[in-house]
Amino acid sequence: MAGNHSAAVLRNKGVAIEVYETVEVADVATERVTYEVARTDKGTPRVITTWVRFDGNSLADLEDAFGDLGEFQKATTTNPFTAIRRALAILFGWDDAHPRLPDGKPEPSGRACPGCRRAGLAMKEGGANDYSTAVVAALSLANGLDPTRVVKMIEVGTKAAEGARTARMAELDEMLDLEAAVAVIPDASTSTAGSNSGSEPAEATTSSGA
Ligand SMILES: [Zn+2]
Repeated sequence: MAGNHSAAVLRNKGVAIEVYETVEVADVATERVTYEVARTDKGTPRVITTWVRFDGNSLADLEDAFGDLGEFQKATTTNPFTAIRRALAILFGWDDAHPRLPDGKPEPSGRACPGCRRAGLAMKEGGANDYSTAVVAALSLANGLDPTRVVKMIEVGTKAAEGARTARMAELDEMLDLEAAVAVIPDASTSTAGSNSGSEPAEATTSSGA
């Protein structure tokens, strides 16, 4: 997680998160405004630190979006990216044009919502756990939980996120090892077939069927 999470900082500024900076792009042909990730001269996404903090309006908007705050927390486990994207759009003040269904309820996916899509662009790869920790921490602060306890909550959440990341990396390493091993097999079989007698190496081609 980004930055300082002391109780004083939480109280005064909120919970720091890192996101990609997004900029408006006007499509002259369609007259529609879209967004894209701002990039450095080297072409890498520009990362900024921003502060997550709920006020009465964003709390009300979150309630409107998810029913109640418990439903929001449930949504962060069932549809984490949709829920976090929407929460960030609300927190950043980007979600005012969120479309509604004919019955007046907010459209749940956010697919056609410019604010939600902008928030989705701003989310760093692998950042979902940190964002969800930050949003829940900010909600807790808004509900009056002691900032010193929220500091602990962020520490635990960040450790869990790091643990998940490490586990994923280990899994990925294992998969890559496995792939490397599989890739080696045809070579190994050709060389043994070749060294057998030198008469019929064509047999080796059957192993690479898929
Ligand atoms: Zn939206």
